[in-house]
Amino acid sequence: MILSYSQYKSYIECPKKYFNEVHGVEPSEKPSAYFSLYGKLIEMFFKTYTNVIVKNQTELTDFMVDKILRKMWENILDTNYVVWNDPWVKESSEQIYNSVYNDVLKNIQAFSFWKHARSEVSINIVLKKTFDTLNCRLDFLINNPDGTVEILDGKGTSKIGKPDIEQLYFYILMYLLHNKKLPDKAGFLYYRYQTINYINFDMQTIVDYKNKLSIVKKAIKEDKTFQPKVGISKQCKWCAYEHNCEALIAKRKLKSEKKKPALPFEFNGGVLSFSPRGLEIL
Ligand code: SF4
Repeated sequence: MILSYSQYKSYIECPKKYFNEVHGVEPSEKPSAYFSLYGKLIEMFFKTYTNVIVKNQTELTDFMVDKILRKMWENILDTNYVVWNDPWVKESSEQIYNSVYNDVLKNIQAFSFWKHARSEVSINIVLKKTFDTLNCRLDFLINNPDGTVEILDGKGTSKIGKPDIEQLYFYILMYLLHNKKLPDKAGFLYYRYQTINYINFDMQTIVDYKNKLSIVKKAIKEDKTFQPKVGISKQCKWCAYEHNCEALIAKRKLKSEKKKPALPFEFNGGVLSFSPRGLEIL
C-alpha cells in the first residue's frame, strides 16, 4: 500500500472519502478551486523563489515579482476550475492576486531562511516489514548554517486556527526514517501573517505517532466496507463527494425533518405596523 499524509487524514475523517479518492471516483459536480487559489499561487511562487531565484542569487525587484507572479497566476486560472458566482465568493481574481503579491513581498522581507531552504522536497520510504510505501512532500526543508534542520509547512489560511499537528508529526517521522535523526524544529508558516508557529516534539512523540500510523494502516488494509462518517469536523462541507454522498443526503434529510414546523399564520390583508408595543395589524 502507498500512503501519504492526506490519504491518512482522509481515512481518519471518513473511510468512504478515502476510498473514493484512492480509487479516483469522479465527484458528480466538479469542485470549485476558489478557496485554494491563494495557497496555490503563493506556494508556486515560493517554490521557484527558493529553488531557483535565491540559489541563482538573483535580486528581485517588486516589478520582477509582479511579472513572475502574473505568469503563474494566468497558468493557475487556466488550469483550475473556479465558480466565481458562488454565493461565498468574496474576492475577485484581482483581489486574490493582490493579496498574494503583497504577502510575497512581506514574507521575503520577514524571513532570512530562504537561502538555506529547499522547497517541495519529496521523501519516499518503503517500510521493511510490510513493504508499504509512505510518501510526503515538504514545503520547506531548511539546513541552517549552524547545522540545525527545520521543516516548515506553508499555510495560506486566513486564520491561525488550531494547527493539524499530526501533519508535522508525519513529516518529522519521514525525515527520521530517511535521515536516522530528528529535525531540530518543525512548524507552520502562515503566509498571511508572516508568522511561524513551531510545535513541540521529541523522539517519544514521534514513536507514539508511528504506532498510531501502523494501526491506521492496518485498519485500511482490513477495511472491507469503507463506511461514510458524516459530519465529523465539518469534513462533509469541504468534501468533493458531498453532492452524491447518500449518507450525507440521508443525514441532511433527517435533520430537516426534525426542524420545528413553522407557526401557522393567516394573512387577512391588513397592513402591518411595527410599533414599540410589538407587531400590530391595523
Ligand atoms: S460527504 Fe461526508 S460522509 Fe460523504 S464521503 Fe464526503 S466526507 Fe464522507
